[in-house]
Amino acid sequence: MPAKQKRMSNRTFTMIKPDAFANGHSGAILDIIIKAGFRLVALKMTSLSEAKAGEFYAVHRARPFYGELVEFMSRGPIIAAILEKDNAVADFRKLIGATDPAKADPGTIRKLFAASLGENAIHGSDSDENALIEGDFFFSGLEKV
Ligand code: UDP
Ligand code: MG
Repeated sequence: MPAKQKRMSNRTFTMIKPDAFANGHSGAILDIIIKAGFRLVALKMTSLSEAKAGEFYAVHRARPFYGELVEFMSRGPIIAAILEKDNAVADFRKLIGATDPAKADPGTIRKLFAASLGENAIHGSDSDENALIEGDFFFSGLEKV
């Protein structure tokens, strides 16, 4: 690859959302992610205050679903993780499926575990740039292995 060509990042960021966590799907979801070839770079169980959830989803602030999204994401524990694999962002979006589980492909994490467009079990970064920003939102350098 030419030196100047931008290399595709090999990391993405994910959260197992409060619905999937509360329904006991965290272990099954992590199993799917690991068996799909993603390496865990960092992993933690935590929860988001409304302020922190609002900050994480600030890009959606003007959308009609923002209030509900913030309420949902701060409702209970989540699992946050940084994942590594070639072509991580795109491959992970494929693994989780469409935002709306009704439109997600069979076998995807959202098809398997999500109940609705809003409560859709899992987050996946949409770009290399956001993967970095989102990973740094949750993890310090010391927590990345
Ligand atoms: N969302 C929602 N209603 C919508 C679109 C999105 O409640 O019409 C929620 C849903 O939880 C989604 C999150 O907002 O995962 C972020 O939306 P985005 O369009 O970034 O979807 P994603 O990247 O998560 O697939
Ligand atoms: Mg998104």
